[in-house]
Amino acid sequence: MGYSELSPRIKKVYAQVRYLDDYHWEIQGDRIVGIHKKSNVHVVIEVADNREHAEKLAEKEKADGIRIIAIPDKNVFFIHNGVFILTYRYIKATLADINDHIVWSGFKVIDDGGKLIQEDFYEYLGGALINHIKNNMLAGQDYVFWQFYRCEECGKYVDVESLERHLRGHGIKHHEKSEERYEVFEINFRDEKVYDKYGNEVPREKFSEEAKDFLEEITSGMRGSP
Ligand SMILES: [Zn+2]
Repeated sequence: MGYSELSPRIKKVYAQVRYLDDYHWEIQGDRIVGIHKKSNVHVVIEVADNREHAEKLAEKEKADGIRIIAIPDKNVFFIHNGVFILTYRYIKATLADINDHIVWSGFKVIDDGGKLIQEDFYEYLGGALINHIKNNMLAGQDYVFWQFYRCEECGKYVDVESLERHLRGHGIKHHEKSEERYEVFEINFRDEKVYDKYGNEVPREKFSEEAKDFLEEITSGMRGSP
């Protein structure tokens, strides 16, 4: 099948997304599939005639990964049955938002027949994404995601930057580790709280001393900015 044979509306939607190089793009019949390059998360984009048609499609099947249904109607953006239903023009911004919510969460060094390769882990924080859209929150301004490591000795959460120093305090050599898994938390600058990926607050007493200092520093830094 040649590109020219695609329906005009699929071409219109594809023309919106093809500049986003965080994704690898494929067109499969009447679907556009974006494969997030770093994480391999799949985003499936379909096209519907209108709002009602989109809702029906959203109810019909469950897609693997993230599903977006684009419609020609103006100024539409909502979530139905876990599916993003939106105006063509909002697709690009939504895909950029999705990209912001796929966060690195660790690595593992594996033996690959004669060489060692690093495998990276990512998390898609879909619940946070919906919450951020609802509350009009911008990455870097209203919140940031940060990686925290749960210390195997004391059970406290340590921010990624302080990990080496923290582990040294327990006599653990950080550079000997061939695998690290992090929990991704949201540092919310609006209420100066920290949330886990389910939206539950992580109280300050669960953090190490270094991480508490770090949190104080980053939130006070944001307080000072306009
Ligand atoms: Zn510790």
